[in-house]
Amino acid sequence: MPKYKLEYIWLDGYTPVPNLRGKTQVKEFADFPTLEQLPLWGFDGSSTRQAPGRSSDCVLKPVSVYPDTTRKNGVLVMCEVMNADGTPHISNHRATILDDPDTWFGFEQEYFFYQDGRPLGFPDGGYPAPQGEYYTGVGYKNVGDIARQIVEEHLDLCLDAGINHEGINAEVAKGQWEFQIFGKGSKRAADEVWVARYLLIRQCEKYGIDVNFHCKPLGIELDWNGSGMHANFSTKTLRETGGKEYFEKLMAAFDKYRDEHIAVYGPDNHLRLTGLHETQSIDKFSYGVADRGASIRVPHSFVNNGYKGYLEDRRPNSQGDPYQIASRILKTIASVTA
Ligand code: ADP
Ligand code: MN
Ligand code: MN
Ligand code: MN
Repeated sequence: MPKYKLEYIWLDGYTPVPNLRGKTQVKEFADFPTLEQLPLWGFDGSSTRQAPGRSSDCVLKPVSVYPDTTRKNGVLVMCEVMNADGTPHISNHRATILDDPDTWFGFEQEYFFYQDGRPLGFPDGGYPAPQGEYYTGVGYKNVGDIARQIVEEHLDLCLDAGINHEGINAEVAKGQWEFQIFGKGSKRAADEVWVARYLLIRQCEKYGIDVNFHCKPLGIELDWNGSGMHANFSTKTLRETGGKEYFEKLMAAFDKYRDEHIAVYGPDNHLRLTGLHETQSIDKFSYGVADRGASIRVPHSFVNNGYKGYLEDRRPNSQGDPYQIASRILKTIASVTA
């Protein structure tokens, strides 16, 4: 029987942003293992801010599984962290979120490549040409000589893994890129975002490059964009029934729960949601057709189809936890009767 390399991946206990962790166990299976075949495993939670030293065992519970084509017989196993008594660990947000397979999410993950403490392509001690030509740009002066190779490799790794990766583009700042992940159901979509993040971070190792997911790595003073993770969403009702009246009720609920949304939309978002750089300011809620300065952008197609389709919440940031973001959106939607 072939020996499979099972990379168990989980989120650690660091706050406000958990790190991805992973370790390998080798096991024999007749064929590529299914989720049901994968055993629980454990790790030392005292090294990941998930347990005191004296009683340090945390449990890894596999929740989704993906082929890993960087390794012979490689398997990526996304896990939830459980306590020894089988209850979800306090750091395990996935265990308690709302889910609905009929609600579809598309996350646009923006990030910076970083090398030597600055965005890839920034000269030592200075700045490259101002923003303008980098977004969706082509050519060495815009994207350098290595970034495209990494994003292409990452795209293929995601597709090999069965992740619903939908596209890539160079972003507004130099060294900044985006990928999009689409999934039906919050857990499915969010698992795939986390595994795609893992694959990107890992793929960068051999280039001596890190991924900086901070939402405003260059600070608020200078004219450099921050990074978001726009959350596009559609429910069955939004796709099939829609209507202006329902839409307006939904937007009123998003307004009412503004603070609750911002609370899970990623740390330091006040640095990014300033009203500049294609954002609405953090203390306002607005929506608008094709408006990239609104909290929620309503696509033209949505209005043209009788207020049916998907909406784009532009507020979640690049360090946000997609489990909690999707769950909060579902919670607000559930507060409105169609
Ligand atoms: P932009 O950069 O113009 O905001 P992108 O093309 O980067 O747009 O992202 C659009 C996102 O919307 C994609 O992730 C896509 O999967 C998602 N999307 C498209 N249709 C739906 C839908 N019906 N429900 C949820 N998400 C959707
Ligand atoms: Mn996009
Ligand atoms: Mn973008
Ligand atoms: Mn967008």
